[in-house]
Amino acid sequence: MCIVVCMVSKKASSERKYECHKCWVEMDKEEVETFGPNIVIDVCPKCNGIWLDKGELGKLLKDKKLSNYLTKHIGTKSKSPMICPRCANIMDIEKADDVEVDVCLTCGGVWLDSDELEELKAKSKEGFEGDKNAKLEELDEERRYKARNSPLNKFFRKFK
Ligand SMILES: [Zn+2]
Ligand SMILES: [Zn+2]
Repeated sequence: MCIVVCMVSKKASSERKYECHKCWVEMDKEEVETFGPNIVIDVCPKCNGIWLDKGELGKLLKDKKLSNYLTKHIGTKSKSPMICPRCANIMDIEKADDVEVDVCLTCGGVWLDSDELEELKAKSKEGFEGDKNAKLEELDEERRYKARNSPLNKFFRKFK
């Protein structure tokens, strides 16, 4: 990654900066080449953690299957102590085998510790398939949550 490009994009970008929720320092914007248009990701200068907005993980990994597995249908419960640096909502831990990443339950952004991007790339190369049963459980959790909170259900609860 070219330092000059980073400096330029830093100045040109009027986007607000995120703070690393581990080090509480401002993260740097870094422009990364993908197979499509370049994307700008946020990198912590202290711990080298990476923040990815929704959709950016797939572009970085060039693996939709793996990124969808980690960011879609992730349930409703939080197993992570982390707060989303983008929208300040709760996050959940999602696993690709032994690699654990934090995903925001609200905005779908992803936090990667310094070496997790490389670990995920390796998983992708191995042809990671994912744990279907774990995914079904989370899907079920979402369905139950939606059913509980449907307008019709709330209406009926009033009369109980
Ligand atoms: Zn940090
Ligand atoms: Zn968020």
